[in-house]
Amino acid sequence: MAGGAALAAPFVWRRDARAHTAHIVIIGGGAGGAILARTLARSGAGFDIALVEPKARYTTCFFSNRYITGLQDFDSITHGYRGLAAGTGLRVLNQAATAIDADARTVRLSGGETIGWNRLVVAPGIDFRWDAIEGYGPEAAKTMPHAWRAGAQSQLLRAQLEAMEDGGTFLIAPPEDPYKCPSGPYERVSLVAHYFKREKPKSKIVILDAKSDFPLQAQFEEGWATHYPGMIEVIPVDFSGGPKAVDPSTMTVMSEDGRFKVAVANIIPPQTAGKIARDAGLADDSGWCPVDHESFESALVPGIHVIGDAAVAAPMPKSGYVAGLQAKLCARAILWALAGKATDAPLIAGACWSHITPDQAVREYAEFEYADGAIARTLLDISPTGETEDRRIATAGAAEHWYRDITGEMFG
Ligand SMILES: Cc1cc2nc3c(=O)[nH]c(=O)nc-3n(C[C@H](O)[C@H](O)[C@H](O)COP(=O)(O)OP(=O)(O)OC[C@H]3O[C@@H](n4cnc5c(N)ncnc54)[C@H](O)[C@@H]3O)c2cc1C
Repeated sequence: MAGGAALAAPFVWRRDARAHTAHIVIIGGGAGGAILARTLARSGAGFDIALVEPKARYTTCFFSNRYITGLQDFDSITHGYRGLAAGTGLRVLNQAATAIDADARTVRLSGGETIGWNRLVVAPGIDFRWDAIEGYGPEAAKTMPHAWRAGAQSQLLRAQLEAMEDGGTFLIAPPEDPYKCPSGPYERVSLVAHYFKREKPKSKIVILDAKSDFPLQAQFEEGWATHYPGMIEVIPVDFSGGPKAVDPSTMTVMSEDGRFKVAVANIIPPQTAGKIARDAGLADDSGWCPVDHESFESALVPGIHVIGDAAVAAPMPKSGYVAGLQAKLCARAILWALAGKATDAPLIAGACWSHITPDQAVREYAEFEYADGAIARTLLDISPTGETEDRRIATAGAAEHWYRDITGEMFG
């Protein structure tokens, strides 16, 4: 199966000379960082592990489209870190990392303290390229939310949809690749359409896309024609040039040759690796962090690993399940490097789920293998069009199981 068996030789990294100290610092307590922290803490290697995360509670982006459209409450997608650390000796430092010194092997924290590490793992997720759409920055996002970082932005978008009058237009502007959760904008469209069908049936949805096509397009378009006929208009980049500028004061979104005056605008800007990773020199000109695909050690700064959305790991999508897989691969590398402990490679496989209605979903299952120095996809199994309702309902059930599993892996 994917991933191979025990550690293969020759191994691409050496054991650290300073392995006796075994201090590991992990920046970011999201899907990647939290799973890595728990995996290492439960490995029995006795590492001193500090997880640095400024938020006291983490709201999952996964299933946030269900929250935004009134299908779940906020608490159901929000998790604290107490269970993660319980009984493991792992420390969760409720601060942000503000600077990394790769030569001194230290991280500065927002509280002013500096902590040392033998291995550092950077898992800060994404940041937005605020300069990419004219007029769209953090201030504009207070009127035209991106809701692409779950939390206050998701609450704002939900409130706007609830306040919108029947007959209004909801515009969503998905970004160019790569961005986190490739099918996420289209799941959001599906669930907003479901909400409109039930609550505001005269309303419309416009997708002003920065791309010419999108993942699972045939499955989504089939679902939209079946469940929400006539409600959704897709405008690919080839027709419009994509979203170019916004004017929040008039609720107007501009493409190259069009102006859209809308009731609710959900602008998802293009993305880049989290700031702390870029500041530390871990990103290349693409704005993302190149890594060795077996250990997730940075290709630019030795001794530092980058996992999750911030890393360059195509063909793996930027998704929660992939961040968890990378965490396990990275944990395996660190266990070997710092403790000489060989562990089996995890099965590198998982699925992205997308709801088309609240109780029907499609999925994209993939398996990956490390071969010839890179991750390659060995299997891609996508829900076909024309599936029965029963099948789609079963897939939605599997998505719920997945949510419970991944949040269990993250938070205990
Ligand atoms: C609407 C939506 C739906 C999605 N649905 C799915 C889905 O169904 N399935 C799926 O697999 N994926 C899904 N995703 C994608 C998934 O949420 C991300 O790919 C995943 O969370 C990435 O994990 P990560 O650890 O790289 O980053 P994140 O989970 O974003 O975590 C990064 C963490 O780092 C912290 N951080 C940032 N900077 C610092 C710093 N300087 N110091 C300390 N901490 C810092 C942040 O506070 C954050 O908690 C969805 C995403 C969206 C937006």
